[in-house]
Amino acid sequence: TDGAAAAAPALAPSALAHNYHPLDVVLAAGEGSWVTDVRGRRFLDCLAGYSALNFGHRHPALVAAATAQLGKITLTSRAFDHELLGPFAEAVTRLTGTEMLLPMNTGAEAVETAVKAARKWGYDIKGVPDGRATIVVAEGAFHGRTTTMVSMSSDPEARDGFGPYTPGFRIVPYGDVDAVAAAVDETTVAVLVEPIQGEAGVVIPPADYLPRLRNLCTAADVLLVLDEVQSGLGRTGTTLAQDLTGVRGDLIALGKALGGGILPVSAVVGRRDVLGVLTAGTHGSTFGGNSLACAVGLAVIDLLAPGDLQARAAALGAELRERVDELVARGLLASGRTVGLWAGLDVEPALGLSGRATCERLVTRGILVKETHGTTIRLAPPLTISSDDLHLALDTLGDVLEEEAA
Ligand code: PMP
Repeated sequence: TDGAAAAAPALAPSALAHNYHPLDVVLAAGEGSWVTDVRGRRFLDCLAGYSALNFGHRHPALVAAATAQLGKITLTSRAFDHELLGPFAEAVTRLTGTEMLLPMNTGAEAVETAVKAARKWGYDIKGVPDGRATIVVAEGAFHGRTTTMVSMSSDPEARDGFGPYTPGFRIVPYGDVDAVAAAVDETTVAVLVEPIQGEAGVVIPPADYLPRLRNLCTAADVLLVLDEVQSGLGRTGTTLAQDLTGVRGDLIALGKALGGGILPVSAVVGRRDVLGVLTAGTHGSTFGGNSLACAVGLAVIDLLAPGDLQARAAALGAELRERVDELVARGLLASGRTVGLWAGLDVEPALGLSGRATCERLVTRGILVKETHGTTIRLAPPLTISSDDLHLALDTLGDVLEEEAA
């Protein structure tokens, strides 16, 4: 064996749990939209950490903020405040047009926190007896991997075998307001959905879905909880996906890009009278809102506050839309959904194509993407990607699909 191969870590060391099936690449470095593997091959990253890397790898402003904070203090725990906690809460609530923030770490924790806040609000304010609260959720949703999150899942792979499940969730078809209305009763404290479903394959609901859910929730005195962990913070060409509809959730879960791809940072933002029910001792996290997370989170909000990145995602999104339509017209894709710089592309099963095989071929051609649910490929490049690089990715995708179809 040559030196380089010997130095490369094993792809599947026996000490590592098998809960992922990664593509055949071992990454060592990244800058902007590009990453380099241990063999020195370069790849264009068109998954961007499932939208955690909306600003690309090691954005200079984020690295500078993290580095400066590493020289000061990194963690106080919530037993003691630190100077960035208030500014972080103010910055995120200002950007999102909300009143209050509760900091956590991962996306699943943020949604879990929203579930707890909604239940406690139902108990304290609505008078729903403890243990009776129900929350209406959507088929095809993805909210994370904890026991309560998979209890909301309709995906057998994510759910089966992990019972007993957390009770209190009513799963109805995504995009169907009438089904939500039928599921809401006096025990219901919240309707919890993704404004656009990410893991399901960038599934975009009818335009009046969120506005009608908003009206229904307001009329029934039920909270509208929106999981923007993947859809939020610029991906859709707007700050939040819900901005496309003018709707504001009562609670909004943020994660992924809030940590700029540098570290896990999540939060629930929303109404003061709702988050206010989580008083001292009722909920918390050792790491939530730590100094380093707030330093990076503040730098993330600085990147988004001017709105230029969102505008850029919208403009590049129009180019993406055109190229995807072209691939559909050429018969290389069965269908494709795009919103902003985010796409769910369904490969044509009639051509014998699989999402996995397409992704494997793309990796050998220097483009990193990932399939979801067998036949769908998700594109979510950094919002900072150049137009040339975006077209390079789509040219290569077209070539690969054509080869596969031949
Ligand atoms: N909600 C949504 C909409 C997500 O897409 C994800 C992650 N794919 C999560 C929650 C969970 O986030 P995390 O992996 O950080 O727990």
